[in-house]
Amino acid sequence: MTNDPELEGQRLRGEIVAVGRRLYERGLVGGSEGNVSARLPGGRILATPSGVPKGFLVPESLVVTDLSGRSLGGGRASSELRMHLKIYALREDVTAVVHAHPPTATGFAIAGRPLDECVVPEVIATLGLVPIVPYGTPSTDELPERMAPWIAGHDALLLANHGAVTYASTLARAIDAMESIEQAARSLLVAHLLGRVNRLSRGEVDRLMALDPYGSRVRNPGCTVTDPEPLGNRTDDGLREEVARIVRQSLGGPA
Ligand SMILES: [Zn+2]
Repeated sequence: MTNDPELEGQRLRGEIVAVGRRLYERGLVGGSEGNVSARLPGGRILATPSGVPKGFLVPESLVVTDLSGRSLGGGRASSELRMHLKIYALREDVTAVVHAHPPTATGFAIAGRPLDECVVPEVIATLGLVPIVPYGTPSTDELPERMAPWIAGHDALLLANHGAVTYASTLARAIDAMESIEQAARSLLVAHLLGRVNRLSRGEVDRLMALDPYGSRVRNPGCTVTDPEPLGNRTDDGLREEVARIVRQSLGGPA
């Protein structure tokens, strides 16, 4: 971050080009999919242009808009910029937004499966539960309106039958989050295919959050832990029989 608006703009252009390349090289977007933006000094937004593959951006191809998406130079911004603008409007702390179609995480979003299990420590600590925003038609106002209720409480969202969006105080953190949710979704998919998903316990999650090894802003990850009480898994009948056995034993009867 520099104080000179001109230099800051140049720095951000270079960073967005690099993020686009990362999205493309990691297979998180195909064709011209996805879009990346960042806040410029003076209440403006720097965004990727419409219809350009993200692996082949050049700094001069980026578009500057105001906070309502009106072009202030550099051509036409992506129609999905509306999602980014909604996030900037609701989160003053956010300076960068990344939208992509990561294949495995998007598969979860198509299957209606949020990333809501406490399984991967880094994701638990840095993002917490990643919910699914109900489907909204891309490039319309419907999608940002559907996202709105989730934006304050999360830094990463799956979009039903569409993709994912991550946002943060820096572009580096936003792209890291996008890569992390795809990585976690892949691991979780493999665990499901192997037939077993071992979640962390409440105690393990509490310890992780207290240590905070990733410098996270998440306070309550909200994901599902293992059942803390094995007794809770028993049926009423099983429990009744167990109590009866203990009572019989305490009275000196047969176990
Ligand atoms: Zn999209």
